Amino acid sequence: MLEVGGGRHELDRSRSGVGPAGLTKRAEAGVNLARVSVSPASSRLERITTRRRNPKWKNVPLRIEMAECINCDTCLRHCPPQFGAIFNHGIDVIILPELCSGCNKCLDPCPVDCIYPDPDWSASPEDWWQEPLGPDDRYEGAAVRD
Ligand code: SF4
Ligand code: SF4
Repeated sequence: MLEVGGGRHELDRSRSGVGPAGLTKRAEAGVNLARVSVSPASSRLERITTRRRNPKWKNVPLRIEMAECINCDTCLRHCPPQFGAIFNHGIDVIILPELCSGCNKCLDPCPVDCIYPDPDWSASPEDWWQEPLGPDDRYEGAAVRD
């Protein structure tokens, strides 16, 4: 039974007065109830496959200013594997905002302070998505062990 995220809320609302008739009206109005019941990207694998950030995360994602980054890879080692958001991508070091919780654990280790909050973040470019679950995804094995 799906009862995560919006699905559970639908059940609660049905108990608190909206009722089956309300759900029927929504269905008649063209609302996709199956879509409402989809889990909100709560695991790393879900975030990768759906390319969605967890909507429950309150902190904004971070970004690396590539013009300032010295490619030392220190931040990669400090990103918790359950997030696993930082990758080498060609000559760049990148943070996929969809995978970044904004936990800030990568901030202090950066020797040149070139990691910044990115409140106006946009979707990762298509070619960045070849890194998560790819052959150089250092977080995947660690995440499996958790
Ligand atoms: S803020 Fe946290 S999740 Fe985001 S890249 Fe840094 S360490 Fe990873
Ligand atoms: S720790 Fe800072 S300088 Fe080093 S790779 Fe990460 S962002 Fe670049």
